[in-house]
Amino acid sequence: MTFAQTFDAAATRRCVERAHHARRVDVAAALDTADCSLERFATLLSPAAGDMLEALAARAHALTVERFGRTMALFAPLYLSNECVCTCTYCGFSRGLPIRRKTLRIDEVASEAQALAARGFRNVLLVSSEHPKHVDPAYLARCVAETKRLVPYVALEVAAAREPQYASWAHAGCDGVVLYQETYDPEAYPRYHRGGPKQHYHERLETPERAAAAGIRHLGLGALLGLADWRFEALALVAHARHLYRYGWRTQINISFPRINPAAGNFAPERPVSDAELVQLIAAVRIALPMAGIVLSTREPAVLRDRLIPLGVTQMSAGSSTEPGGYSKPGEAGEQFHLEDTRPREAVVQRLRELGYEPVDKDWEPAISSMIPHAVGA
Ligand code: SF4
Repeated sequence: MTFAQTFDAAATRRCVERAHHARRVDVAAALDTADCSLERFATLLSPAAGDMLEALAARAHALTVERFGRTMALFAPLYLSNECVCTCTYCGFSRGLPIRRKTLRIDEVASEAQALAARGFRNVLLVSSEHPKHVDPAYLARCVAETKRLVPYVALEVAAAREPQYASWAHAGCDGVVLYQETYDPEAYPRYHRGGPKQHYHERLETPERAAAAGIRHLGLGALLGLADWRFEALALVAHARHLYRYGWRTQINISFPRINPAAGNFAPERPVSDAELVQLIAAVRIALPMAGIVLSTREPAVLRDRLIPLGVTQMSAGSSTEPGGYSKPGEAGEQFHLEDTRPREAVVQRLRELGYEPVDKDWEPAISSMIPHAVGA
């Protein structure tokens, strides 16, 4: 059974409604058990739990230190292209927007990867818009292989693909795939995805399983906060991650909580998420998914990022650019969205150390991971 076949949006909505009536005593009970069912997780998302943020944060922090220690993996996005055939209303790369378009040549990809390696990065996320002509599977395989010559960990955040494509990228050296559902709300999804291949909600929902089946060992899931009810998104995300754990048990899951930032097109989120709600969400997800990586991007301002670290964050981007070529030749192409935390990598590293965290650039050996068979549906 795929997640798309099992996910019940109506039942998830009812769960959210019930959670609105949770009392403090229900939140305390949910915090007091190691077995965090979806019903209990919903309780942690309730307004009552929002009044008990210190207790949530303490539990989330303890679980994180127990599983991950006080470490923080650092990565940087490398944008390959901003040419897109899709119309996503929240995105600065959306088709038809008047920005300068560019797809990096392979030698430009190498220059960008070199610039990041020179800054100390060993973990690079290759990001691209969707364009079947400019960004085809063979091009992406070459980008992965070229980047892999310079940094040991390479992941892809690109258009949804089929299993053979993921297998070819894994063969080229791809360690991870990030694919946000953007919104799990099937009624909201078509309002924001108005054209291009990305408009197919179910197709996207099934895709992470294809990547896992192809041998991709790290999967990144996420919902773009601001498009729909954040409590609904959180419940769906946790259900999705648990489904993948069940059917792809050797796959490491990472969860992201990107909030919508300003971009070309001036999109305003229908359901903005406050800082306090973001704190509650991250703490609750850490409690529900103690083994998952939690990723925080430079979309959030530096002060807030520093405050969110102890709640359960295990990976952070730093010194990022969201335009193709932005590290070696900034200003030649349009950016996807504006960044809030513009600190260079060294400043983030220094702040992490001040907070008692050890920045980590590489925490595995290919020789070890290659001994572990990838198994999905096992
Ligand atoms: S979100 Fe992705 S697919 Fe949609 S417009 Fe932006 S780059 Fe294109």
